[in-house]
Amino acid sequence: MQLDAKIPDGPLAEKWDRHRFEMKLVNPANKRKFDIIVVGTGLAGGSASATLAELGYNVKTFCFQDSPRRAHSIAAQGGINAAKNYPNDGDSIWRLFYDTVKGGDFRAREANVHRLAQVSNNIIDHCVAQGIPFAREYGGLLANRSFGGAQVSRTFYARGQTGQQLLLGAYSSLARQIAAGKVTMFPRREMLDVVIVDGQARGIVVRNLISGELETHAAHAVVLATGGYGNVFFLSTNAMGCNVTAAYRAYKKGAFFANPCFTQIHPTCIPVHGTYQSKLTLMSESLRNDGRVWVPKKAGDTRRPADIPEDERDYFLERKYPSFGNLVPRDVASRNAKEQCDLGKGVGETRLAVYLDFADAIRRDGRAVIEKKYGNLFQMYAKITADNPYETPMMIYPAVHYTMGGLWVDYNLMSTVPGLFVLGEANFSDHGANRLGASALMQGLADGYFVIPYTIGGYLAGTPQRAVTTADPAFKAATQAVNGRISKLLSINGHRTVDDFHRELGGIMWDYCGMARTNAGLEVARGLIQNLRAEFWENVKVPGEPGEFNQSLERAGRVADFLEFGELMLIDARARQESCGGHFNEAFQTQENEALRDDENFCHVAAWEFTGEDKEPAFHKEPLVFENVHLTQRSYK
Ligand SMILES: Cc1cc2nc3c(=O)[nH]c(=O)nc-3n(C[C@H](O)[C@H](O)[C@H](O)COP(=O)(O)OP(=O)(O)OC[C@H]3O[C@@H](n4cnc5c(N)ncnc54)[C@H](O)[C@@H]3O)c2cc1C
Repeated sequence: MQLDAKIPDGPLAEKWDRHRFEMKLVNPANKRKFDIIVVGTGLAGGSASATLAELGYNVKTFCFQDSPRRAHSIAAQGGINAAKNYPNDGDSIWRLFYDTVKGGDFRAREANVHRLAQVSNNIIDHCVAQGIPFAREYGGLLANRSFGGAQVSRTFYARGQTGQQLLLGAYSSLARQIAAGKVTMFPRREMLDVVIVDGQARGIVVRNLISGELETHAAHAVVLATGGYGNVFFLSTNAMGCNVTAAYRAYKKGAFFANPCFTQIHPTCIPVHGTYQSKLTLMSESLRNDGRVWVPKKAGDTRRPADIPEDERDYFLERKYPSFGNLVPRDVASRNAKEQCDLGKGVGETRLAVYLDFADAIRRDGRAVIEKKYGNLFQMYAKITADNPYETPMMIYPAVHYTMGGLWVDYNLMSTVPGLFVLGEANFSDHGANRLGASALMQGLADGYFVIPYTIGGYLAGTPQRAVTTADPAFKAATQAVNGRISKLLSINGHRTVDDFHRELGGIMWDYCGMARTNAGLEVARGLIQNLRAEFWENVKVPGEPGEFNQSLERAGRVADFLEFGELMLIDARARQESCGGHFNEAFQTQENEALRDDENFCHVAAWEFTGEDKEPAFHKEPLVFENVHLTQRSYK
């Protein structure tokens, strides 16, 4: 199959306007004839549902939490980017576009990224109109702070709770549409399959997580906004419920999976402190605006930080990257922290941590200023570690945080299955091999508020469809398949818990497909995962019944998908014989240990097609064409 990204013709800055003009429209009265399913109520799905309903479509929205506003987006801390240039420090749509393409190590599609930068400004206007309490300057303008990979301040924030405030905004709009009867909300439902009729996505199968019943729902188009898959690593900063199931089931129904190995490891997380830990906590990147990262110059130095004099400290990011300092992009900061720990300079009990020190900032600005900017983050750190970060440096270490890979989508955000659209972290589209901080919220809201409302109309207006109900045999077949899988999981009655398998899988992924990868390691990991998967299907213990509230069963289904999907990540990582962004193959690095790309052979999106159980996936390539930026070795020096 030839992948067609459907990038509009014309100059980069005019593509989106031109496309909006050229796309077919559904007239206002006809919109009420179309039903749209949206799975996910995070920033991407919540904003899409609200906007599509406001336009007049009949929307059915699903999430597995008890309330749409518990979607994982609520956890986002640091902020959202936009090219408003309020600080007058040289920002522009072009600069945001360029920084994002460069930040992603030139592995994203130019046209999508430029559109993202363009609509970033609409997002801020929209959210202000909704009443989002963004931080403001004394004069009343919205305040900005800096995030990694940029030399301007373009990040809008609401203390360390930006995701929460943005999600409350999207949720309010969604709630308005629920009250108006335009959105029917289905919480506590887990999507377990997409239903394809005549080659088009026409519905879904969900499990009611309270009653255990399987339900089917039909529509004219299906939108997946189901978030990222970082929990394949077991330990990550993601909410415990984040999973790959919806995207993976869609993959098995014909949606290609793009760049699955592109994972973001965030440099500033609270380090792992025990074998039975099940979650890692992020310390927002915004902290690197004021916090300075350092380790002792001498390996094996066990003195307390306060006892290490200034000239015996190595502020390694400031030393190596004088232009960007502590605000280098996440992949660069993470690799450098690992390097220092590998050199024996790590700190804390496990020696797998570096310091993030606010002493200078507190001396300079005063504790009150720092507290105002980051108070809730400092409080969170103190609660978890029992250390006071106002008095002693935080200890941080990289952890899995975000997944740049996702279902392949074209410029219209449509997957390779007609009528199946994918938004937010669940798609692969805008961040290349490394996402810049504060760009995920921007992308989720761009997709939901400003892209899908147009492109889904273009699809619906231009695609002949027959009337389909859940009585169609395709719904019955999909339900039977889901039922069969549930019965199988419950019938094994083995000796290991689901979490035990998940933890082991995560260990394999972290050791072999984490911050550094080797060809030999990736091959070893494939064998390990295949064995673990075989054991899972013989020895997992899933207690309870199918027709009841059964969280072990929920988790078992997700881990079963992770056990297959993890292997796809390894296959993708092995196939990409270069290093770029978060994908660091040790065989491909510069003399200074930076990622070394191979633009001649790997300047493409790798899109994988499911070809059958236990068969190798088929590889498809979308070449990336850069007409507006020059491909260079990324430098933040
Ligand atoms: C701790 C933390 C802090 C972050 N801070 C920032 C930040 O400051 N700035 C920034 O830009 N980004 C940040 N990010 C990243 C950002 O929060 C996420 O990428 C973004 O919120 C994802 O939004 P989403 O709408 O795509 O998915 P999510 O918010 O994850 O929502 C997924 C939705 O899909 C539903 N769902 C999933 N699977 C199923 C299924 N099978 N059936 C039914 N429903 C399903 C869920 O119920 C949920 O409603 C942060 C991430 C973390 C982990």
